[in-house]
Amino acid sequence: MQWNSPTHPALITTTGETRFVNRVFCIAKNYEEHAREMGAEVDRETPFHFQKSFDSVVFGPEVRYPRQTSNLHHEVELVAVLGSGGDNLSLAEAEAAIYGYAVGIDFPRRDRQAEAKDKGRPWEIGKSFDDAAVLGVVTPKSVIGLLTEGAITLEVNSTLRQQGNLSQMAYQTVELVAFLSRLQTLKPGDLVYTGTPAGVAAVSAGDAFRAEIAGLEPLQFSLVSA
Ligand code: MN
Repeated sequence: MQWNSPTHPALITTTGETRFVNRVFCIAKNYEEHAREMGAEVDRETPFHFQKSFDSVVFGPEVRYPRQTSNLHHEVELVAVLGSGGDNLSLAEAEAAIYGYAVGIDFPRRDRQAEAKDKGRPWEIGKSFDDAAVLGVVTPKSVIGLLTEGAITLEVNSTLRQQGNLSQMAYQTVELVAFLSRLQTLKPGDLVYTGTPAGVAAVSAGDAFRAEIAGLEPLQFSLVSA
């Protein structure tokens, strides 16, 4: 399986290695408090996910406010980057498939997502669009180890908006990779956005973002008018 796919965005890595984004899997409702603030609960039986297009991925330093929404929300998330893939991975195989980690922001058009939920439609209109998935610098797992705990925070215009700990995730990265591998063949360059802690709220063009996860490179960017 190759990393190379010239039409796909190239990841930024701490080692300078060239890796390309393949698919973007996003886990919903993986932190109890966030599920609650959305009027839902974590499903302890099975995770719940959706996909964004690979070309939703953007690295900054400028991220465009999307059209077709007046309620763009921020969701700071740990992103697991796969270096290999496979089907029906065991937990040990899933761990081995993780190449590294980065800080990411999942931007939903919350108004469009709410409409979709009301109509019993897929979330795609609310979740997959230009610049909908911001991705920071990838640190290899060989450097940082398996991430299962550590502070995760988001500041917007220097004000703390989201604060949590990776240990609050209902499903850890290894379980999520194993889960996804039961549904389709996973491949190098697949990203897994692992869900957000509580505190999601609306943002505006002109806002400045700083997202941090203990041990990873901070993610900083500005939201700009398209
Ligand atoms: Mn999310």
